[in-house]
Amino acid sequence: MRRVAENLQAVRARIAQAALAAGRAPEAVALLAVSKQQPAERIREAHAAGQRAFGENYVQEALAKMDALGDLDLEWHLVGPLQSNKTRLAAERFDWVQTVASERIAERLAAQRPAARGPLAVLVQVNVSGEASKSGVAPQATAALARAVAQLPNLRLRGLMAIPEPGDPARRRAQFRRLRELFAALVREGLALDTLSMGMSEDLELAIAEGATMVRVGTAIFGPRPAAARRPRARQASAETSGAP
Ligand SMILES: *Cc1c(COP(=O)(O)O)cnc(C)c1O
Repeated sequence: MRRVAENLQAVRARIAQAALAAGRAPEAVALLAVSKQQPAERIREAHAAGQRAFGENYVQEALAKMDALGDLDLEWHLVGPLQSNKTRLAAERFDWVQTVASERIAERLAAQRPAARGPLAVLVQVNVSGEASKSGVAPQATAALARAVAQLPNLRLRGLMAIPEPGDPARRRAQFRRLRELFAALVREGLALDTLSMGMSEDLELAIAEGATMVRVGTAIFGPRPAAARRPRARQASAETSGAP
């Protein structure tokens, strides 16, 4: 597996190329490094290569890494589904929550965000594919939820996020476009939104062509997640530290 720094450079090049191809400035697309299931040392490596924003799916797993990396100036995004019994920790420890899908969760985050930390940046997650298994608010309910979240204290609604259906690129692209249209409609009615979070390792080019301002990339930066790797975790770690290929 290539080193994180090289992978990051390659991902940044893909982002720049896709932005330019879409007639957009490369700086208009932020990179979130999704570090779920990756150990803290790999986050440290990415930070040394200039990456500051990291995404995690599980609150508990993220807290351990935040504690281990407390000496670094990092920005933490929650990108996994948020249950109500975890909102307090999320409100206290994260900088962004990208997966707000109900008013109830948003209200809890608003009530539990410590004032001293400043507003929590939030995105409304939209279920653009309509799959029953996917979290997120239905497209037709998005505007009402966004308006409600925008009114809450201690939160700053920044935009929308979605995870489209895997598979057929044309369908995925249509789902990215749907999210962009929902976003544009909210901006037209006056909400001050600046973030359209869509696109991952496999499809960031499609998402950027459809207007993504933030792509969330895991595998292309850190390699396959341990759970998906064939070799056991312990062997892989020792091979890496001993410098074996
Ligand atoms: C895991 C994950 C990603 C990154 O996926 P890759 O395919 O590894 O780039 C992005 N967004 C969310 C919400 C994820 O859970």
